[in-house]
Amino acid sequence: MAKKASFNAFEMARTQFDKIADMIGLDSATRDLLRTPMREYHFNIPVRMDDGSVTVFRGFRCQHNDARGPAKGGIRFHPQETIDTVRALSMWMTWKCAAVDIPLGGGKGGVICDPHNLSAREQEGICRGWVRQLSQNIGPVSDIPAPDVMTSAQHMLWMLDEFETIHAGHYPGLITGKPVGMGGSLGRKQATGYGVVYTLREALKELDIQPENTTASFQGFGNVSQYAIELYHQLGGKVICVSSWDQDDQTSYAFLKKDGVDLEQLRSITDRFGGIDKGKAADLGYEVLPGKAWLEQDVEILIPSALENQISGDNVGGISDRVKIIAEGANGPSTPEADEVIHKRGIFVIPDFLANAGGVTCSYFEQVQSNMNYFWEKDEVLGKLDTKMTSAFAAVNVLARNKKLYMRDAAYVIAVGRVAQACKDRGWV
Ligand code: GLU
Repeated sequence: MAKKASFNAFEMARTQFDKIADMIGLDSATRDLLRTPMREYHFNIPVRMDDGSVTVFRGFRCQHNDARGPAKGGIRFHPQETIDTVRALSMWMTWKCAAVDIPLGGGKGGVICDPHNLSAREQEGICRGWVRQLSQNIGPVSDIPAPDVMTSAQHMLWMLDEFETIHAGHYPGLITGKPVGMGGSLGRKQATGYGVVYTLREALKELDIQPENTTASFQGFGNVSQYAIELYHQLGGKVICVSSWDQDDQTSYAFLKKDGVDLEQLRSITDRFGGIDKGKAADLGYEVLPGKAWLEQDVEILIPSALENQISGDNVGGISDRVKIIAEGANGPSTPEADEVIHKRGIFVIPDFLANAGGVTCSYFEQVQSNMNYFWEKDEVLGKLDTKMTSAFAAVNVLARNKKLYMRDAAYVIAVGRVAQACKDRGWV
């Protein structure tokens, strides 16, 4: 039997794009322009380690498209990072910013490294080295990074400090997701997870389901999941399962509690990367199962909030008949093969670049506040975020309903349409 080709996120992003390009009859020049990042940088980052030796890390930045505004998107630290993953994620950022209609383009960065095994000083070295390599290619009016998988507000501040040292001035608009009090916005921490639940709340209304009559299962217990669970609980929903990565065993586990997980209790036994201590969880009465069990729960709602390529042709069959909604907190969690099955089964999907757009929307608010040098209260930030997410959801939902489109396709039609129009208006194509 032929060996199954390994997953490639960039191929996936292109497959999704090609489908929509065909659907809307996009001309060949615009297709050519949007199938490949506008610019990309690959570089080495030599870092002096704590033991005195030097390790050379590989870094990337892709600027997929900046027709609607400066490239925007996070930086991931991950041992399995690849240029193709960063390319895909930069493309998804372009669609994300367009879907919520903020004046930004799409970018993404990455470093192949595992912060679990790096001291704070070594991570600072990577952050500063990443900025040194890109100091002429990123900036408040060209490309604005932010946190992503395994990077935090502290990483952003080290990066900003390096940029400001090189350019001899204050440039808070360089980067978002900064610490509150150092140019960061209140609500930024909550923004992605809350944004997922704002769209989920709207989807439940569309399907005429009361949140308090639902249960949910989450993949991942990082920043996105934790705040999504917080708000979903406030709506009256019950989370019965979360999964998380176990660094010691190099595998993931699912933590099941049929009468509902206790968010604060779980947080108290979780490391800074979202890794839940399985021994402590078992002591607290959680059933510890193999990681994939999160997908197979009898719940109304599934929320994949970890990495790409998690719901695939191989495991999509395990989704329970009870599932009504999949809200994609992660970027690219469902492969096109799985997506076809999900579509056929009539599950309501809130696609990644719509569901998880809360983070970048709040990043945009961070820049607005930074430019005014006046910072809003948390409620004001979250209120504006809710408005933006709700109206983006409504636009996609109305198109899906009117044209009988799958939600992912409707989101793509809107986003690609806006970006293609901006490229055309600028005279690029
Ligand atoms: N990394 C987040 C994302 O994937 C946020 C990006 C940003 O704030 O620029 O959407």
